[in-house]
Amino acid sequence: MTASDDRDRTTESNRTNSHDQTIERDRTTSGGKQRRTDGERRVTDGGVAAASASESAEYDTGSELTDVFEEGDLDLRAGADDCYKCTACDTSCPVAEVDEEFPGPKFQGPEQWRLKRKDDADIDDSVMSCSNCMRCDSACPSSVPLSQMHNEARGEYVSEQMSTLSREYVRNRILANYRTSAAVASAVPRLANFAMNFGPARWAMEKLLGVTAERDFPEFASQTFREWWRERGGARVENPEKRVAYFHGCYANYNTPEVAKAMVRVFEQFGYEVLVPPQGCSGTPMFANGMLDDARRHAETNVEHLAAALADGADVIASCTSCSLSLRQEYPELFDIDGIEDVSDNTFEALEYLRIHENLRGALADAELDGESFGYHGPCHARNQGLHRQVVELFRDVDGVEIEDVGDSCSGISGTYGWKEEKYDKSMKIGEEMFDHMRHAEGDAGITECPTCAMQMEHGTGYEIRHPLELLEDALVE
Ligand code: SF4
Ligand code: SF4
Repeated sequence: MTASDDRDRTTESNRTNSHDQTIERDRTTSGGKQRRTDGERRVTDGGVAAASASESAEYDTGSELTDVFEEGDLDLRAGADDCYKCTACDTSCPVAEVDEEFPGPKFQGPEQWRLKRKDDADIDDSVMSCSNCMRCDSACPSSVPLSQMHNEARGEYVSEQMSTLSREYVRNRILANYRTSAAVASAVPRLANFAMNFGPARWAMEKLLGVTAERDFPEFASQTFREWWRERGGARVENPEKRVAYFHGCYANYNTPEVAKAMVRVFEQFGYEVLVPPQGCSGTPMFANGMLDDARRHAETNVEHLAAALADGADVIASCTSCSLSLRQEYPELFDIDGIEDVSDNTFEALEYLRIHENLRGALADAELDGESFGYHGPCHARNQGLHRQVVELFRDVDGVEIEDVGDSCSGISGTYGWKEEKYDKSMKIGEEMFDHMRHAEGDAGITECPTCAMQMEHGTGYEIRHPLELLEDALVE
């Protein structure tokens, strides 16, 4: 049985079993792959001790293999040996489908790790064309740690082989560190919103930096979520028995605070005390651009503050599926930081958390919305956590809501990928299937959990896009 079969079966039984049974099962499967067991995916103990003498020795007895990634903490050659070349990863790769020069995940992962030898130790530059959608992870029947391999290889490529003076490096560093530019822009949101979409400025950004001028920059909010939170005086519910630490991420803070506010109001409606710890970027755009030193700095901040919240009895929740995936899967795979495993094990996507701990369907049974119809896109990073069907299942029986899944294809933007000039056309080609399904769906708006998928949906179809938490707020909060 594949992981997908397993998830489907879980989903099916979620429909029919009692709430308590659902909670128990969700606690154990909770989001699918990140709840991996030792030996299933993290073949090297999350990379933390992978360079340990005992494990290295197993692959170091007369073999010609060399340490390709000399500076890395990880040794994933054991994972590479789990690959039996079925090519399921290659056929699931949206970039390989539209870019004939991209050799695909099997080459990027197990083949580079297994076959590189002393006279050919460079990382292939095609690793920079991987969008880090992580669909190959879900596709692999042998639990080869593909995205972990890609992330490590990309980090090595950027630090060892890419010139820090190159246009690509400068552009990627700026895109990866969106949080930095967003913090500056948010200090003067009106000016920033004008300047970022001012024609000559966009033309110059494309020519000088390689940031596509085809897309509209998302607007910065006049008040960030954290400013609103401070002005509000913080939490309105105190409850040491039900406490969550909210990882809002950059986009909900700077661009869509309405999503973060909905998160707070919905959780308070269920009696939760919401903590909003200090935090940096989840690291998602940094992993995708091989900026692992930047990602580590942010991870250290996040783990420190989220671990402190865990010690105060909170669980960690995120409203963005890429943020939750990063904290759950990429952090323990890539970094060795005190408390990182605890943070990974106790992080949940917001709707998932409510499904596990509350009778959400029961609460929605009496709700009534005002004749809204949506086309739902399940983000790749929700799929990777086994969460890509929960929105449709949750809302389909709510009075006044029509919701239609617009298929399981990738949206194509993959965070920063679709913002790169040379990737823009490919990004739109990948998204075409989803755009087409949206156009034929009954809905007159879109809905998704991922902010960059929302950008792509809006860009490709012109529909307004909402977040499921906003719909939950409309349905449940007076
Ligand atoms: S992460 Fe996505 S783009 Fe990268 S190799 Fe895997 S499937 Fe392809
Ligand atoms: S899906 Fe897994 S086992 Fe199959 S070729 Fe890709 S890495 Fe190898």
